Amino acid sequence: MSEITLGIIGSGQLGSMLCQAAKKLNIKTIVISDDAQGPAQNFSDQFIFSKYDDQIMIKDFINKVDVVTFEFENIPLDILKKIDKEKKVLPKPDINKIVQNRKLEKTFVNDLGIKTTEWAFIRSAEDVSKNEKLLPGILKTNTLGYDGHGQFVLNSLDDIKKDWCFTTDYILEKKVNLKKEISVILTRFQNGTISIYSPIENVHENQILKHSKIPAEVNDKIINDALQSAKKIAKHLDYVGTMTVEYFINQNNDLLVNEIAPRVHNSGHLTINAFNVSQFEGHIRAVCDLKIIPPGIICKSAEMINILGKEIEEYRSKTFREGEFFFDYGKKKIKDKRKMGHLTILKK
Ligand code: ADP
Ligand code: MG
Repeated sequence: MSEITLGIIGSGQLGSMLCQAAKKLNIKTIVISDDAQGPAQNFSDQFIFSKYDDQIMIKDFINKVDVVTFEFENIPLDILKKIDKEKKVLPKPDINKIVQNRKLEKTFVNDLGIKTTEWAFIRSAEDVSKNEKLLPGILKTNTLGYDGHGQFVLNSLDDIKKDWCFTTDYILEKKVNLKKEISVILTRFQNGTISIYSPIENVHENQILKHSKIPAEVNDKIINDALQSAKKIAKHLDYVGTMTVEYFINQNNDLLVNEIAPRVHNSGHLTINAFNVSQFEGHIRAVCDLKIIPPGIICKSAEMINILGKEIEEYRSKTFREGEFFFDYGKKKIKDKRKMGHLTILKK
């Protein structure tokens, strides 16, 4: 039995899958979450229900764990830093400062010589007018976006509503005529070694991931460039754990970084069934400083379908064939567009 107790901040499906991977490695997990119903409590060894700024509960959490990680990046930075003073938080909190903030994230990526969509920092309607060349574009809140929340399509300057008061910062991105979207998932260990999965091809509907598949149908140059740039990003962030880079491919076959997720990723759920080691196990191994296991695919191809909102009801009563793996996240409330589960289908 391992002596390590891992603290996980957040209790959604990613937290659940991290707990399951930890269990396999005999690592004890303590989840802290501000969601009393978070499904990860069904898989963790202990669950602490608390607001993230509750000093007493956070202290209790810190006292009980050896190392801390998280399932989502939008945790207030000062809280991560406070925890990090006493117990190591991995990936390092300073990385979140960059990737929580679209402006800093895109600047960081561009400074490494890696292309992103064309973008501008926006504080006012006037800033949008000055950047009319980016229209049609997408106005995104500079912080706190996920699954398309905080995004507004602007086809022309007329779409800026008179009552918008720009109380928060935004970035405006040129709308890319997408040929494909891919993601690269890697795990970087504490000694700097990296294990990496081949690119995964993703389809989004209404800005939410709907479908992922491997192998991605893209040319070798794109595969190589995507793997190299993801590794470069991880190295320059001095990243520890599993990390994801989302890419756009435009009609000219240019590879553009969309965003970095400092965590395990929805597109990587198929790694649970399609590989000898999942993105979750890789993450646990890296943050707990265990041995690296290079990922090896154990099927010919795989696809993953996200099950959103009410769709889950139909899946709950379905029977599945060999090679089909249904995951029900066990969320109590069904909400429109909420990620309720997924199905992975392997082809041998
Ligand atoms: P989130 O943080 O919500 O994941 P993203 O910036 O990744 O936000 O956007 C979600 C999805 O919306 C993308 O995967 C893509 O399908 C679409 N999208 C976002 N930005 C653009 C863009 N500039 N051009 C074309 N499609 C975009
Ligand atoms: Mg995204």
